[in-house]
Amino acid sequence: MIIVLGAGLAGLAAAHSFTRAGRQTVVVEKGATVGGLSRTILHNGYRFDLGGHRFLTHDESIEALVRDLLGADLLQVPRKSQIYLRGRYVDYPLRPVNAIAGLGASMALKILSDLGREKIRGGWSRRPPVSLADWVNARFGRTLFELYFREYTEKVWGLPCDRVSMEWIARRIDGLSLMKALAHALCKLSGRNLHTLTDGFLYPRLGIGQIADRLCERIAEKNPVWTGTEVAKLCHGDDRIDAVLLQSHEGAPRELAADHFVSSLPVTTLIDRLHPRAPAPVRAAAARLAYRSLITVTVMVGRERITDVSWMYLPEKKIPFGRIHEPTNWSRAMAPAGSTHLVAEYFCTRGDPVWGSSDEELVEGTVGQLSQLGFFARREVTDAHVLRVASAYPVFEVGYADHLKVITDYLNRFENLQLVGRTGAFGYLNMDHALASGIRGAERILRRTGTPVLRPVPSSTRAVTLPEGRHA
Ligand SMILES: Cc1cc2nc3c(=O)[nH]c(=O)nc-3n(C[C@H](O)[C@H](O)[C@H](O)COP(=O)(O)OP(=O)(O)OC[C@H]3O[C@@H](n4cnc5c(N)ncnc54)[C@H](O)[C@@H]3O)c2cc1C
Repeated sequence: MIIVLGAGLAGLAAAHSFTRAGRQTVVVEKGATVGGLSRTILHNGYRFDLGGHRFLTHDESIEALVRDLLGADLLQVPRKSQIYLRGRYVDYPLRPVNAIAGLGASMALKILSDLGREKIRGGWSRRPPVSLADWVNARFGRTLFELYFREYTEKVWGLPCDRVSMEWIARRIDGLSLMKALAHALCKLSGRNLHTLTDGFLYPRLGIGQIADRLCERIAEKNPVWTGTEVAKLCHGDDRIDAVLLQSHEGAPRELAADHFVSSLPVTTLIDRLHPRAPAPVRAAAARLAYRSLITVTVMVGRERITDVSWMYLPEKKIPFGRIHEPTNWSRAMAPAGSTHLVAEYFCTRGDPVWGSSDEELVEGTVGQLSQLGFFARREVTDAHVLRVASAYPVFEVGYADHLKVITDYLNRFENLQLVGRTGAFGYLNMDHALASGIRGAERILRRTGTPVLRPVPSSTRAVTLPEGRHA
């Protein structure tokens, strides 16, 4: 018997592999539905993701799995994005000249002289970069860093750029689409080359949550998926997890034993729920890891269409949210005919003033800001919805890797526990990586137990040529 903790894409992909291999599995999920961060909310006929989720992958077997799950419900969607900066809407992808156009001759000169200086300094030895600020400054110069990178990065992470680990930016320069856009344009400007950009992505007709829903249907043909069931404790011995204590919304807690466990719970939650408790240094390390939270405010409008973009980025700090999208530009089935909606993403931290704002304040602020920017008139608004997501982004603060190592070194002693997924493995994973991580975790257990591993067959349809997708 195998227990999978968490029914986001990583947990579901693991459970799907076990089910295909004929293994008895139980999935436990504290939410009311499956999908985790990749779920789609249905509210009064309107559908929306937790921030628009596009599907892109380089991995043919993952693409084949998603095509197989979705069939004709998988749409190819054109991508068009914009950045709202200093009163102007700048088209994405940026052309190099966009990055400095409109800034005036003296600013353009400053940027070019910065870039020249950094190019000349390029060969010289200097202090190795530690933070995002070091890394971007060294490549693009101070002026461009201040203009394009600082505000948005600080908005997303809630940290000054010299506290955001350079490991994140170096590995994931394309981690946020905006960062990718800017890096792409600026790299060209500075004579470097990044990955090519794509003009489209895959998206399920009824929202990204359809991937999780279809996985769940396949698992449920043979094995149970218990939603509304929280992992309250993981009971363990010296080197094995023995059982979990489950608390469902109705009913008394119950203990469930298993031979193997796959966890996609936030790794800090996992440490917190261990029984007996983890040693003090491990708990201290977990307390130093943080997740950035997200609030989405969705505003429904009695009009067919508002924008023609997939995403719009709003880096300036004076605008309280960082990104908006219009789900009907991804699939018309996301809203009733004759109406549409805009989803605004607020990056925040549990306990901060934004997180603590009431729903009414958030809706009022969002409607006010969006109408001020000219997207709609207040009288057109028909409804609104607020959603809080506590653990949306693992925070890669300088030094995080040392804390994570203390935790993983300790958890490695549990021979029957696999950590998978974005919050579970504390990695900047997108959906394709989350699916792959769940499958890999399951395969490690299947191999260990001598069960034949069935891999998804690569699609016969040509894989779409896509860039390295790091879009969250
Ligand atoms: C705003 C935003 C936009 C994004 N956009 C994209 C995109 O465009 N493209 C892309 O590929 N990726 C995108 N991503 C990333 C994508 O959402 C993740 O990679 C993926 O959903 C991670 O899946 P997971 O299963 O690893 O984690 P999760 O989805 O976090 O799953 C973990 C599950 O564990 C459950 N859980 C937690 N604690 C307990 C407990 N105690 N007991 C039981 N269950 C518990 C949670 O409820 C959750 O369902 C985006 C992410 C965000 C936040």
